[in-house]
Amino acid sequence: MNKYISQLNEAQQAPVFQKDGPMIIIAGAGSGKTRVLTVRISYLMSLGVDAFNILALTFTNKAAREMKKRIADIVGNNEAKNLWMGTFHSVFARILRNEADKLGYPSNFTIYDSQDSVRLISAIIKEMQLDKDVYKPKQVFGRISSYKNSLITVKAYFNNPELMEQDAMSKKPRLGEIYQQYVERCFKSGAMDFDDLLLKTNELLNRFPDVLAKYQDRFRYILVDEYQDTNHSQYLIVRALSDRFQNICVVGDDAQSIYAFRGANINNILNFQKDYENVKTYRLEQNYRSTKNIVEAANSVIDNNKTKLDKVVWTANDFGPKVKVHRSITDGEEGRFVASEIFDLKMRHQLHNGQFAILYRTNAQSRAMEDALRKRDIPYRIYGGLSFYQRKEIKDVLCYLRLVINPKDEEALVRVINYPARGIGDTTVEKLTIAANHYKRSIFEVMEHIDKIDLKLNSGTKAKLQDFVTMIKSFQVINENQDAFYLAEHVTKKTGLVQELKKDGTPEGIARLENIEELLNGIKDFIEGQKEVDGARGALSEFLEDVALATDLDKDTGDDDRVALMTIHLAKGLEFPYVFIVGMEEDLFPSAMSLNTRSELEEERRLFYVALTRAEHQAYLTYAQSRYRWGKLTDAEPSRFIEEIKDEYLEYINPSDAGGYRYKPSIDLDIFGDIDKSKLRLSKPLAGTPPKSYGDEPVSSANIRKLKPVSGSAPSSANLFDSKLTVGNIVMHERFGKGQIVNLEGIGADRKAEIKFEVGGIKKLLLRFAKLDVI
Ligand code: ATP
Ligand code: MG
Repeated sequence: MNKYISQLNEAQQAPVFQKDGPMIIIAGAGSGKTRVLTVRISYLMSLGVDAFNILALTFTNKAAREMKKRIADIVGNNEAKNLWMGTFHSVFARILRNEADKLGYPSNFTIYDSQDSVRLISAIIKEMQLDKDVYKPKQVFGRISSYKNSLITVKAYFNNPELMEQDAMSKKPRLGEIYQQYVERCFKSGAMDFDDLLLKTNELLNRFPDVLAKYQDRFRYILVDEYQDTNHSQYLIVRALSDRFQNICVVGDDAQSIYAFRGANINNILNFQKDYENVKTYRLEQNYRSTKNIVEAANSVIDNNKTKLDKVVWTANDFGPKVKVHRSITDGEEGRFVASEIFDLKMRHQLHNGQFAILYRTNAQSRAMEDALRKRDIPYRIYGGLSFYQRKEIKDVLCYLRLVINPKDEEALVRVINYPARGIGDTTVEKLTIAANHYKRSIFEVMEHIDKIDLKLNSGTKAKLQDFVTMIKSFQVINENQDAFYLAEHVTKKTGLVQELKKDGTPEGIARLENIEELLNGIKDFIEGQKEVDGARGALSEFLEDVALATDLDKDTGDDDRVALMTIHLAKGLEFPYVFIVGMEEDLFPSAMSLNTRSELEEERRLFYVALTRAEHQAYLTYAQSRYRWGKLTDAEPSRFIEEIKDEYLEYINPSDAGGYRYKPSIDLDIFGDIDKSKLRLSKPLAGTPPKSYGDEPVSSANIRKLKPVSGSAPSSANLFDSKLTVGNIVMHERFGKGQIVNLEGIGADRKAEIKFEVGGIKKLLLRFAKLDVI
């Protein structure tokens, strides 16, 4: 037994020792699921299972690399190298390249990122002369994406009157046509988008039994991490591949399913037992990551969800500090608090930046945090948002390189055909596009034959088009004889990209040049890395594939010490000693878009559970009373999720909060302190959101809280805020004791009471937080 197995507890060892057959490990956050997968793979290999026969699917490529490294420590580098590990997208992109011809694609197909996809959809919408305010390109892309992930092809779409009617009802009767156009244009360009990587894999495995048999035979052992977030398309691939040997091990936590909006289906985990015969189910209950306070706080929140599997999570770790709650007046102040707290903690405990994470619901929230961190000189890194490879100057270079590999790539071509400017105008490009669509050829092919097609172009323009073709072809020749670094450097000069930026001369221009240099360095690194890999394919095309599929986390080399800023979605599976969850406000978290149904609200709650369980030692929840949203200062209320945590695990930093009684209760309790209240009330948040419904019952966001007891928790004092309290009532407060209501003001969630306590005098409390009993 290797030492890695002995480092697992008994419950963790059991699934490691079960060599064959289907199994599912359902366990809460931090219980060692990912660790069990790693040890299991090394154990299989120690039993003689060939690395070639093992497929492990992870949430990020980074997770795959780390797993591989750990396994290499156990079984040696040579062995580990042959493991098939990665995200669904990267593993199946590789398989699709090998089998591309069967589906009519070139093996050098391009992978469109979402920017390419949305741009192409915009172009189609424009060509079809549709209103882009009705057919919003991003929305249309989202719709097409969800069809693909449900395996609804264009043909299936047009055979499904219900779907067509649904789109017609949402004022998009021509969505199917856009879908069709989009698919045709991608195909013509030799391009697949992200969703195609899964859809086409399914097609491949369905249509070609011999191909299916080949990969079933290869992947005799399949392991899937974060199984709760697989979508239907991914589910079917796993199902098909594991069908023959049934050696399938999936791990997941239903309480951490947070990608329903992208089609992830929590039923995949719930139905696993039905899908395979003799499934062994394992449960892990001990959390090794977090303190007792964090584990219990997280448990008390997720208890509010109705839809969940019964699961126990406990920890033998210390109690640790309580979860701290901080209120500030504005989002700017919230940022300053977080930055100064990080600064102090670092000083006090000799911590380094990498031990801190700031998590938020939406990317837009990072700005206030960034400003504050910068002022304190605290280095940070933002994950998500616009990735390095999507920056304009980088994408320009990449598009030239993409054209070298696949000249049919229409998105790449349209992007750079006239950048840097070479006198090929929009009208010319339009004419080329129309001709390409007409002949069902790529634009590049049309350009190659420009002499023989009458597009009413003058001879000057024709010559420019021919020059462009010649230039790309000359790059192709170089690509055959030189490495990718040489080619890329040549391309940046020969196309005029570098000169263009040098000419610019502004600080931004210089920063862009530096980015291009960084890209070239990256290519060099990549080539060096490739030299160590057996059977590496053409370096440039591999590099481009890596880039297309890189998730933001993948670029993290972890060698510089920075505070991590990211959305909660991105933080899944990660852990940090100190975690700040910021923007804990109603309509932000839970998001205003998620208040329509119970299931949406429950997904938000799972998201909060994920956030809280990232923390090892200490978690902070911060919220602001007002925040700039859509350019307006809006009032904000504390998130219901704070309220849902049992009080015993919380510590309020501002004593005036939530009957904020933790310490210094003598301080003025007016929740708005001494600021001018009128300034905080410029507008109501999110007026005009669509009508909300809770299950079948239409409700407003305000009275969702009244329905809370349905979720199984005890009625809290929150439902007092609009109840029968009157001036003169004698009330009992958990901390301040007995008092009498002397004044009531505000309505709904804003309702406040001034209470004269027997000890401590008059205090003003926000009723939705105050724990009051009428006596
Ligand atoms: P998540 O649900 O967040 O993905 P997980 O269940 O995958 O969590 P891991 O990330 O595998 O949990 O483990 C959480 C932490 O606990 C890691 O730091 C891991 O190294 C540690 N850990 C897991 N099992 C043990 C153990 N038996 N002894 C000591 N530490 C452990
Ligand atoms: Mg994990």
